[in-house]
Amino acid sequence: MCSKYKAIQPKGAALDSITDVVPQGKTKTAKIPAKVHYRRLKETAADVFIQKRLGECGKRAVSTTVTIKETADGKIYTSGVWSCGRAWLCPTCALKVSQHRAEKLLSFVESASRQGVTMMMITPTIPHHQGTPLKDLFDLVRESFRALTKNKRFAAAKKKYGFEGFVRSTEITHGKNGWHPHLHVLVFATCEPDELTKFCELIFEIWSDIVDRSGKLKKGQKCSRKAYNISPVNSKEGMSNYLNKWHIGNEIASGQSKKSTSGRSVFQILQDYHQNPTAKDKRLLQEYEKATKNKQQLTYSRAGNFKAKYTDQEEDQEKTDFDIANEKKEGKPTLAITRPLWNKIVKLRIVGWFLHVYQVSGQRSARKFLVRKGILPVALGEDILYTKDGFFRMHVWDLKKEIYAIDEYLKTTPLPKTG
Ligand SMILES: [Zn+2]
Repeated sequence: MCSKYKAIQPKGAALDSITDVVPQGKTKTAKIPAKVHYRRLKETAADVFIQKRLGECGKRAVSTTVTIKETADGKIYTSGVWSCGRAWLCPTCALKVSQHRAEKLLSFVESASRQGVTMMMITPTIPHHQGTPLKDLFDLVRESFRALTKNKRFAAAKKKYGFEGFVRSTEITHGKNGWHPHLHVLVFATCEPDELTKFCELIFEIWSDIVDRSGKLKKGQKCSRKAYNISPVNSKEGMSNYLNKWHIGNEIASGQSKKSTSGRSVFQILQDYHQNPTAKDKRLLQEYEKATKNKQQLTYSRAGNFKAKYTDQEEDQEKTDFDIANEKKEGKPTLAITRPLWNKIVKLRIVGWFLHVYQVSGQRSARKFLVRKGILPVALGEDILYTKDGFFRMHVWDLKKEIYAIDEYLKTTPLPKTG
């Protein structure tokens, strides 16, 4: 078994039962597979957002072949396809980026905790109401936080409590009181938990002072202590609560927006728009897109070498969202698809279903699926398949045969010329 290509064995239902859930016109579908759901949401995102390159995410081949790979736990995914890396806007990139950042943050918190640092989570918010543009509110949040870090009372308290730094994540929701941009901030200090709670109370006083005097609030509006939470994060549970606050995976995976009191996140608005496109939601989505442009979602305090202090030495350089989204995952190549074939699958908008069928039912079913969709692979030889128009090569579909590695094959065999 010298091949690096591995045959995918059928894992679930046969093709016939799979195709039962492929929507044909108005056929009712009980449940949309996740791979399909994400792709559809992405299509909707690409339609509604002004940033058009999002439409190429997960579709544009970046090399001559797109490889279908399999992770150690049997999940299949595509490799050699460009990702947009727009963590604010793109459902799949948001998921990848937030997972990556959550893992890094978790190890950062564990390292700080091992070194005796105490942590609390606070949620600085601002009064908000229907009709205020998101940009104005978002600017107020950001400027107020900057003012907080430069505040004299804060500077004095920092020394007293042994303040180490902040990790700040931004969340934006939209509810009955309009846009609600707010922060989830981890406060790191060397003092005891009781003391840290006092410090967090003081931070609220300073914060509300800054916001209330900003001159940007409507008459009579004030920061509310009720909306400002202080909660310990030293426990695993506390940490996972924190991560869940901005871990968008959960809400997308659930497939529908939860009507929570805190309002809808952008991906919930996107899902609502996907199911029922309204002019109002479209406006909200585009306003959100403009307001978040070039903004960071998660930041660590820069002062005092804070980030490096609790980050493993071996950790690589700080990655951009784009880097994370385009990172190569470890996985076993199972199938190589030429760019022309891949483009056909993309054009027919069946990538999600193709991958889903491949995942649950294996290569043979995935091939049958392509045939049903009008893509006609003709087998020539045992380990190469051609279409009638143009060419593509695939790893052999026959599961019983030992697989001939496509790379080895290509070394000895020139590619056929395209028309
Ligand atoms: Zn993307």
